[in-house]
Amino acid sequence: MFQSVNSVPAFDIKQQYVTIEAEVSAAVLEVLASGRYIGGPIIESFEQKFAAYHGVTNCIACNSGTDALYLALRALEIGAGDEVITTPFTFIATAEVISAVGAKPVFVDIDINTYNLDLRQIAAVVTPKTKAIIPVHLFGQSVDMTELMAIAQKHNLAVIEDCAQATGAVWDNRKVGSIGHIGCFSFYPTKNLGGCGDGGAITTNDSELAAKMRVIKEHGQRNRYYYEEVGVNSRLDAIQAAILQIKLRYLDNWNQKRQAIASYYQKFLSQISGIFVPEELPGGESVWNQFTIRVVSESRNGASASRRDWVKNQLQERGVSSMVYYPYPLHLQPVYKHLGYQPGQLPVVEQTCHEVLSLPMFPELTTQQQDQVIYALKDCLV
Ligand SMILES: *Cc1c(COP(=O)(O)O)cnc(C)c1O
Repeated sequence: MFQSVNSVPAFDIKQQYVTIEAEVSAAVLEVLASGRYIGGPIIESFEQKFAAYHGVTNCIACNSGTDALYLALRALEIGAGDEVITTPFTFIATAEVISAVGAKPVFVDIDINTYNLDLRQIAAVVTPKTKAIIPVHLFGQSVDMTELMAIAQKHNLAVIEDCAQATGAVWDNRKVGSIGHIGCFSFYPTKNLGGCGDGGAITTNDSELAAKMRVIKEHGQRNRYYYEEVGVNSRLDAIQAAILQIKLRYLDNWNQKRQAIASYYQKFLSQISGIFVPEELPGGESVWNQFTIRVVSESRNGASASRRDWVKNQLQERGVSSMVYYPYPLHLQPVYKHLGYQPGQLPVVEQTCHEVLSLPMFPELTTQQQDQVIYALKDCLV
């Protein structure tokens, strides 16, 4: 029988640091010695590099991916009485910011193969109050942005791309975050471009929106100590900018490693029956923030959850860690009870939450570790 030798973690961000330790340490020490801890040239240079990487004219660094989304909604003047369409299968921040500006999130079911918004269902929920769509490029895979932009244009809606899990992902030869009106990024440590703390950024080709976001993120200040609207304090630290600017140079290489791991998983896991293995949409280039399979169930009720959980435990017994992103769909969360969604209303996402399992995925994962994941899954399922 299969014996586990070492354990395989779901992710390991320390390993990446070790590969660039000298460069990063020197850059951090330089910031410390400079005395410029807030703002300054390092922020500007990171913003320029991040904008250039995405082929956009503006980048605004901020404190987090959540703030990036919040600032985007504020710049578009979305608030009370407005509706924003998004996915129920995402991290809470995507929907939370819609509520934070006083607007109402409207959830649309997902596509079972991509885990992203089911674009065919958007038109049915558009009302005169709908102002924007927030597509999420979940797990690193781009939404079909050609189709989404056509829908948005038809209904005159703004598009805010939630790129938190997809820095570097491509749709039709363009980087995500450069296709919609505004792109929002997170530098949370486990994201594809992760800092050593919180951080975020916004990309846009619309200079007017960019200017508005800069004002709002600095307390609503246009001229020094002169405030035109209620703002927030949302800055990227100079130390984080120094680290991220180094890591940005490695991002494509790290994403290629993730892609190679995904191909390896696909090759060997697709032979196993009873699981769904994610594939890329033609036209897209995923950056695989997660490699998320589904442990497929025959029954469409609670029994399925226990099969997924059983597999998760079996993997753990074989030394392989895995994660459940996400166990509950947002439309049924207590915080959104007042919206009145009922169980069964968005059936695909509800089934998906019972079936998903994210396997170990990070650039430094060795072939031996990948084999261990594959063997462990075969051992318990075949
Ligand atoms: C991580 C994440 C966010 C929020 O980013 P923070 O930097 O943690 O605020 C938003 N949306 C999605 C899809 C995320 O995964």
